Amino acid sequence: MRHHRLLVPGAAAACLLLAVPASAADATPGAPGIGDSYYPSYGNGGYDVSHYDLRLKYQPTTDRLEGTATILADARQNLSRFNLDFALDVSEVLVGGKKAAFAATGDHELEVTPAAPLTSGRPFTVVVRYSGTPSKVVAGGFTSWLRTPDGGVAANEPESAWWWFPSNDHPLDKATYDVSVAVPDGTQAISNGTLQSTSSKLGWTRYNWRSSKPQAPYLATLAVGKFDITTDTTANGLPVINAYSKDLGGNAGAARASVERSAEIVDWESTVFGPYPFDALGGYVPNVPTGYALETQTRPFYSPKQFAKGANTSVVVHELAHQWFGDSVSLKDWRDIWINEGFATYAQWLWSEKEGEGTAQELADYTYASHPADDPFWTVEPGDPGPENQFHNAVYDRGALALQALRNEIGDEDFFAILKGWPTAHRYGNASVKDFVAYAEKVSGKPLASLFDTWLFTPSKPAASQARAAELSPAKAPVRPKSWQRIQDTHSAHRH
Ligand SMILES: [Zn+2]
Repeated sequence: MRHHRLLVPGAAAACLLLAVPASAADATPGAPGIGDSYYPSYGNGGYDVSHYDLRLKYQPTTDRLEGTATILADARQNLSRFNLDFALDVSEVLVGGKKAAFAATGDHELEVTPAAPLTSGRPFTVVVRYSGTPSKVVAGGFTSWLRTPDGGVAANEPESAWWWFPSNDHPLDKATYDVSVAVPDGTQAISNGTLQSTSSKLGWTRYNWRSSKPQAPYLATLAVGKFDITTDTTANGLPVINAYSKDLGGNAGAARASVERSAEIVDWESTVFGPYPFDALGGYVPNVPTGYALETQTRPFYSPKQFAKGANTSVVVHELAHQWFGDSVSLKDWRDIWINEGFATYAQWLWSEKEGEGTAQELADYTYASHPADDPFWTVEPGDPGPENQFHNAVYDRGALALQALRNEIGDEDFFAILKGWPTAHRYGNASVKDFVAYAEKVSGKPLASLFDTWLFTPSKPAASQARAAELSPAKAPVRPKSWQRIQDTHSAHRH
């Protein structure tokens, strides 16, 4: 859902009055990509989605998914056809209630040609009927759908939607969601937001989930399996739903001892980052063999491996910090990944400081000193790491180091004002690294381009003199903070 701040109600009405029905002559195809610099085919041009209504049925024993997606969108140009990002088999597409022609093109594109052109500025409705076995579908050379012994999970970055619903798959197009999933009795379906209702019929239980705030497609999640579910509320009454696979073995206790603290962690993060942006929260731990965690909106995904060494509140702090940094304030282009990962990692540093396991300054000193100048770590620019290094450790650790350098340059008062003000300034919207630099300069009244060039955009280790200027200790081997290894363990690559 893009925000068009300049459209006052009067102006919107005028636009609608002026909208002339598109004719075949002036309608053109929407672009097959939204214009991302790292992933040119991700997202699509020519329209903007406001809502997804997904009605699904999933059989865990066969990994068979059937669905009907109803997509509400607005045309942003006169459209002769448009694309959706999707990789399962489609049997029918309706646009405005009329049968539309469709074709699978590329490996994750569904090209839809409506019976008549769509008019710029007008809303339209798309219905897509589909089915498939997501774990068997390869797109882009990989399969994001995770199969578990008792079901399946959609959670990956930057793409996971292609395996379970058609979408405009880019954070620039956020929307609200209703996700309704029927699964065999005794099995649960977990998704984002609030659980509106459940119902049971002929051996199938239907779970109805709602995400009422704008959400990027990659942050939509679905997990089907046999779960133990716990509920709680935050200090100000938000509902908390957590889910744990019944099959976590030796990791079950540590997983619960960590994720059950989600409400407490969100309460603490709210004191640092401002009001929590969503109306529900929680976390889920399915029995997947992968190692990563992901900030799926309101309800992060945690792999059991995150808890293999014992309780790990640090990873919970990271994924819940993303609710402000990455989910509510999303990047504009995947090259802006630092505005997600630098801040979620810095939240772990602040938590470490609070828990007495090493201050942010100590973690920054250690990060700087523990990577020698010839370590490839320093060749990655967190401000523009390239798609191959999008989830490199440097984006996280050097990314957090950049924030400590900023903190030392502008002082605690302005720094913490920025940590609170930034998520408010861009709530439910999109922003770039450039936008952040401008925001920090505005709040602090200091020129900061050179500081950010040094820490985010230089493919080499900043010199000892620059470290001293940033009030870091350039010493060779400061003491390793207690939280260091745990924080490293949470950075396991998100992608494939
Ligand atoms: Zn992260």
